[in-house]
Amino acid sequence: MSGRAVLVTGASRGIGRAIALAFAAQGDRVAVHHRNSPDLAEQLRAELPGDGHVVVRADVADPAEARRMVEEVAAALDGVDVLVNNAGIFAHHPITEVTYEEWQAVWRETLDVNLIGPANVTWNAVRHMGRGGRIVNVSSRGAFRGEPDSPAYGAGKAGMNAMGQSLAIALAPLGIAVATVAPGFVETDMVTEHLKGERGDAIRTQSPFGRVARPEEIAAAVLYLASPAAEWASGTIVDLNGASYLRS
Ligand code: NAD
Repeated sequence: MSGRAVLVTGASRGIGRAIALAFAAQGDRVAVHHRNSPDLAEQLRAELPGDGHVVVRADVADPAEARRMVEEVAAALDGVDVLVNNAGIFAHHPITEVTYEEWQAVWRETLDVNLIGPANVTWNAVRHMGRGGRIVNVSSRGAFRGEPDSPAYGAGKAGMNAMGQSLAIALAPLGIAVATVAPGFVETDMVTEHLKGERGDAIRTQSPFGRVARPEEIAAAVLYLASPAAEWASGTIVDLNGASYLRS
């Protein structure tokens, strides 16, 4: 089989879709993971250049589903050379506006999907990786800058950063590198509402380029961090923000 075996979680749309396309374009075999979007995932698989791509389904927050999904990928692609933990959710839950019950529910779900989910998939994927294996986590600027209306999101992504740094140390003796990208706003369905109207204009002007990121720009960084050349980038968190937040 040619190319590497690449598992991209949450690949049916948005950043994950762009990442899947980028790996396939360089000749890798991609497992297009989705949770509830079989049609979109199958459509993407058919669109990917090259052969050997597969579609897999799981709720990454469910330990048994995550395990079964990784086993399926390893069987279909003959191992897992690259894991991209991209699947994630974003919830609006300002502390002064939500009930205590809502607060609890959002914290639990967000940490389950955005932190425990990647931990579930990673534990299993590592068992199918050889030397040269790569793990790339898709975190967020929210991990560093604060998310006043979405604190669980910021906390989960900060946890993901810490997990990546810890595993970079733990997995280096096995020849596996672990790195993280931390984008600000990226044009996807997740943030469509935020990018509308005056709030959208304010977000765009945070960058001197006057826009937000395109999914392909995140995919390009992921491709590098997953490359054989990127062992020395292990443990890094790449702040992908178009020179935003630098003005004094
Ligand atoms: P998106 O909503 O288009 O994609 C997220 C994907 O994750 C979806 O395909 C969804 O089905 C999947 N997913 C959600 N919960 C899941 C679960 N329990 N199990 C399996 N899959 C699940 O959003 P996106 O913008 O493409 O986000 C991709 C990643 O990038 C996320 O981790 C997000 O936090 C991160 N991110 C996004 C932005 C942005 O502005 N769009 C900025 C920084 C980081």
